[in-house]
Amino acid sequence: MLFSSFFNGVAEFVFGLSVLAFFAFTVRYTVGEKISKGMHELFFGILIYFLAAAFEKQYGLFVFYGVSSEILNVVKLLMTLVASLLFVMASSEILLQKSLSMSVMFGFISGGLLLSLYAVFIANSAELKLIIDSILPFIGLIYVFLSFISKPNLRHHLGYLCAALAIFGLVEQMGLYLFLGISYSFVFTLILLMLLAASYLMIHMETKQYDNDQLNDKMKALEANIDNIIKSSPFPIVISKLTDDTLIFANQNALKLFELNMQEISRYHFKDFFVDAENRKLLLEKLEHTKEIQDFEILVKTSIGETPFWLMVSANVINYQGSMALYCAFQDITHRKQREKLLQNQADRDPLTSIYNRRYFEKTVTQKIALAHSQNQNFAVLMVDADHFKQVNDKFGHKTGDKVLMELAMILERSVRPEDVVARYGGEEFVIFLNQVTADIAIMVAERLKESVAGAVVYSEQGAPVSWTVSIGVAPSGISDSVGLMIKMADDAMYVAKQNGRNRVELYTQDLLKKLQKKQTSKEQTHPVFAREEEKEISLLDGIEANRMIED
Ligand code: GH3
Ligand code: MG
Ligand code: MG
Repeated sequence: MLFSSFFNGVAEFVFGLSVLAFFAFTVRYTVGEKISKGMHELFFGILIYFLAAAFEKQYGLFVFYGVSSEILNVVKLLMTLVASLLFVMASSEILLQKSLSMSVMFGFISGGLLLSLYAVFIANSAELKLIIDSILPFIGLIYVFLSFISKPNLRHHLGYLCAALAIFGLVEQMGLYLFLGISYSFVFTLILLMLLAASYLMIHMETKQYDNDQLNDKMKALEANIDNIIKSSPFPIVISKLTDDTLIFANQNALKLFELNMQEISRYHFKDFFVDAENRKLLLEKLEHTKEIQDFEILVKTSIGETPFWLMVSANVINYQGSMALYCAFQDITHRKQREKLLQNQADRDPLTSIYNRRYFEKTVTQKIALAHSQNQNFAVLMVDADHFKQVNDKFGHKTGDKVLMELAMILERSVRPEDVVARYGGEEFVIFLNQVTADIAIMVAERLKESVAGAVVYSEQGAPVSWTVSIGVAPSGISDSVGLMIKMADDAMYVAKQNGRNRVELYTQDLLKKLQKKQTSKEQTHPVFAREEEKEISLLDGIEANRMIED
């Protein structure tokens, strides 16, 4: 028997324990790895093999306690059988990376069991028992050896070479003993086992390296794939480094969009294309929170910095070529933005004269009055109405009337500052908001407007010169902060201007209101503004301001 001289001397005992410890270390080291399960099986295989040998050494003791030698032999053979099976399972796991099939396991166990029972109970031959004792591990190790040579692509690795060598040594030892009866020293067996454990460690490390290489290859292939997908994307795509914002990659569509060359992209930073630095800051802030952004609108320019254009960007933080990068896919939305602007303009502007409409005036002037109020500044609202405009229409036709309205709008808009607001209030009436003006200045501006209009000429379809005048009512600040009420006051003043002969400017005052009320009651005539403004229901009799004025 191979291990018959088991534990002959302390040195051998220590060496045997060291081999086991080394195996235990190998098993521990490979925990969590593919090879780990196989190493466990190999470790337990060798442990049981050692125990079986130790058990045999104690036969005398068991016989002394009355255990029959047949039972002892069967137990010993069973232990050897289990150890051998574990060898086979381990080699299958380690080298073929698969568990032993159930049928092979069943065949091995039942064959070994029947053979053992036959040797002990039927043949009762000590020689046969010894042969079986060695033939089972011999078969196990042969299987391990065959597993090695079935992996030709790995044979050149040092770990596999050493393992094959160790196993060959063990197989040869057993073969010599089995067939020629030549016994080897136990120390030599231990050395071979040690070599086997060491070679498994090497295999483990080589496998790890091989797996890493494969992973790297896969990553490279994946990156190449991503590059191809990006290259063929119908959307412009740009990748920039997250650390210093330099461009790393831009697909053909992005190069075209930003007017760039592939060779020069590293010279650019992503921020170079932003028109508004705040816009970019907002994008990065959002990204910091979400790591991904969908449909964020940015205003950009090309590398040559031509007319800015709008892009919709979807951005992600990705790992690109080993570093953190910002991936941006764009969609040109300039046309959409232009359309939106056009629609907005249509909503805010009067179609005939293209100046702002009443809706826009009321909305904007409400904000402007609030601002003026908070800054304690004066302002004024003017109501401008074309005199006898009906007659212009009647005499020269509606088309000429339109021409007059367009010219009038142009004169008004040209005559005020950009911070003022001019709008067509309706028909032949226009309103003007004058920012930061006292009542005196507002009157001066109104007078100037009146003169400009009086000097203007348009030509009728027949070529006849047409000139016209306007009456202007001025409502100064300090009475009300309501845009509706301010317009109403300007309208009242304008009405007085009409009554006082037209082509005039009148300032709204409390006296004016009283005169107006008297005239209204005496003539029992409806003020045109009351008729027109019914839907707004603004009356000077409403509101605290108006009440106060009437009491005065
Ligand atoms: P007053 O001096 O009292 O303001 O007299 P007026 O004729 O200007 O006033 P009235 O309110 O009687 O008439 C306004 C006219 O403006 C009637 C209407 O046909 C004309 N009008 C209103 N909108 C337009 C327009 O868009 N184009 C043209 N051509 N005429 C318009
Ligand atoms: Mg009118
Ligand atoms: Mg008029």
